[in-house]
Amino acid sequence: MATATDLDQLREELRAFAQANIHPRLVGMDDLDVERDIWRSPHHPAHDEFVAYEQASLEARLVCPHWSPEYGGRGFGELEMAVLAEELAAVGMPRLTRGMGERLCGPSIVRYGTPEQKARFLPRIISGEDRYCQGFSEPGAGSDLASLTTRGVVEGDEIVITGQKIWTSRAHLANVIFLLCRTDPDAPKHQGISFVIVPMADNGIEIRELITMAGDNAFCQEYIDGARAPLDNVIGGLGGGWKAAMTTLGSERGAVAAVQHLQYQRELDELVERAREVGRIDDPIVRQELAWAQCQVHVMEATGRRVLARLADGEELGPEASLTKLVWSEYHRRLGEIAMDLQGAAGLIRPEGDGYPIDRWQKAFLSSRAETIFAGSSEVQRRIIAERVLGLPRERAAT
Ligand SMILES: Cc1cc2nc3c(=O)[nH]c(=O)nc-3n(C[C@H](O)[C@H](O)[C@H](O)COP(=O)(O)OP(=O)(O)OC[C@H]3O[C@@H](n4cnc5c(N)ncnc54)[C@H](O)[C@@H]3O)c2cc1C
Repeated sequence: MATATDLDQLREELRAFAQANIHPRLVGMDDLDVERDIWRSPHHPAHDEFVAYEQASLEARLVCPHWSPEYGGRGFGELEMAVLAEELAAVGMPRLTRGMGERLCGPSIVRYGTPEQKARFLPRIISGEDRYCQGFSEPGAGSDLASLTTRGVVEGDEIVITGQKIWTSRAHLANVIFLLCRTDPDAPKHQGISFVIVPMADNGIEIRELITMAGDNAFCQEYIDGARAPLDNVIGGLGGGWKAAMTTLGSERGAVAAVQHLQYQRELDELVERAREVGRIDDPIVRQELAWAQCQVHVMEATGRRVLARLADGEELGPEASLTKLVWSEYHRRLGEIAMDLQGAAGLIRPEGDGYPIDRWQKAFLSSRAETIFAGSSEVQRRIIAERVLGLPRERAAT
């Protein structure tokens, strides 16, 4: 564990990095995920600044810095990651992240991958060569993920996959999908599932984009017809996919717990400013709603500190990650409603322009409706909290 002096030194280094890399067009943005790479387009106004910031982050080894130095990281623990987030937030700069490769598949590779798999997959996530999407959900398997029916058949030293996936965020921007498939149909439901990293190009995977009510093509469905991957791409061994998937889901639900209040505080400050602009800052109901939101952000900060202390002590988050997911997603959905109420009738009118333009608060309102569904719905989180955190009796299976 890092000592206080180490942390002070690191904070100084990261503060200097953050200040040396302030790019005005990037200030105030959410973290920059590799799969959303609109910044890479030479036509984007922030393209040059993005490229410069990406380069500086890579040189300072601040892309996936929590991974081991032998794979390109710096071996940061949770405390060091929190310091990085705090120092970037202090100057309003986003963190350069590698999205689902870093946040979802990476933790499963780190935990269950062989040394050879780590050496093969992790550096390509850091460099940005591989952009991942998550192929877990299927039309008949969402909350009850273990009902998935996509098949994986071993042929020589390859695995051949056939089936359908849905709601796959940003699949149209990814070159790799990590998916779950059933490799042993005779095994009990949670066994016989394998976790496989599959290249997407020219591999029998047809991608159809789905348009969300926020007007974007944020997710897709895939028709998979005999896609092939080397058996070496199976993480956690054949039939060992469920445990690797649980690491992914735990990370998806809980990894941001320690620092998420930073982003919500920034957003809330903007909403308070908006209330001033529209002349409603003295409205007692509005003040009450904003005060409620501020309390929630403080609760998230306090919870984050507790999570940080546990992780720093080497403990794992486990099912408690569901608490984090439930709190932030329910909070954010309510904040979207508050923001729309604040705008009054103006909130119902989209800005002028081609396509389907929506303003910042309309987007927050519409997108946050999905947040209580993805990474496990609120009902499912409540069930996990009831049964696995509080130890209440298990829900009876529906007949
Ligand atoms: C924006 C967005 C992005 C997504 N991105 C991805 C992605 O990248 N990759 C991926 O694999 N998936 C992704 N998903 C899918 C997401 O994980 C599923 O939508 C989610 O797990 C719910 O599954 P479902 O949609 O099949 O709903 P269902 O499981 O059919 O649930 C329907 C309703 O029943 C409730 N319900 C179900 N079971 C229970 C129960 N036991 N007790 C109480 N209530 C219950 C649910 O809460 C829900 O309200 C995404 C979803 C969204 C909305």
